Amino acid sequence: MSALAKAKPAEFHGILLYTKAYRERDLLIKFLTREFGKKMFLVHGAKRPKFRMRAAILPFTYGTYFGDLKADGLSYLNNYKGIDHFQGITADITKNAYATYVMALLDLAFEDGIRIPKWYDQLLTGLKLIDEGFDEAIITNIFEIQLLAAFGVEPNWVDCSICHRRDLPFDYSEAYGGLICQNHFDRDPYRLHLDQKTIYFLRLFSVVDLTKLTHIKVSQATKKSLRRVIDQLYTRSVGVIPKSKRFIDQLDKFKL
Ligand SMILES: [Zn+2]
Repeated sequence: MSALAKAKPAEFHGILLYTKAYRERDLLIKFLTREFGKKMFLVHGAKRPKFRMRAAILPFTYGTYFGDLKADGLSYLNNYKGIDHFQGITADITKNAYATYVMALLDLAFEDGIRIPKWYDQLLTGLKLIDEGFDEAIITNIFEIQLLAAFGVEPNWVDCSICHRRDLPFDYSEAYGGLICQNHFDRDPYRLHLDQKTIYFLRLFSVVDLTKLTHIKVSQATKKSLRRVIDQLYTRSVGVIPKSKRFIDQLDKFKL
């Protein structure tokens, strides 16, 4: 085997995660591909005004592309077959901010080159829902909760982490790494004191299938409470937060 990995020509399904300026005329583009996981592509001449693949590399684009793919290092984008844009996300600053954050979180959660077709499908579904007008904060919360396992944090959302009862009011305990029931509230003086609605949605988000999502109504108060507890989980247990999260925090402040 040669140490220099050869590039393999391949067709792939890709969702553009972000683009980055590179040299004078080129761009680096990170795709989540369905077939090969996340891949960084070098696109020669992409910054030229008349670049022929311009439409195919705009933010919030997805579709079928052709490239020379390398196991390690930069791959090359050669052409595209069919592409589509999330117009609703592009046109709305709030949707744009949440979609950008979800993609950044997914980028942080997995290493490049690891096949994650389930997450490709989930991202495509989630972005479509946001694009069509579904509540972007809720879709984002679902990604945040379901991505925890990829960050090595796997809260027990199923039953009391101490006695495994499911029929009593719950709270969340960081010390026990999951729910605890009312009978065991005294075991953790630092439990999060969450209301039962917030608990209900956290449990629902941990198992909900986005492809089957038709409607979720969450009050402003519960949305705020969900934002607070998920922020706590990410700050204290995950420890990495994409920069794009700050913009969402600012948007939230304007809404008050
Ligand atoms: Zn218990």
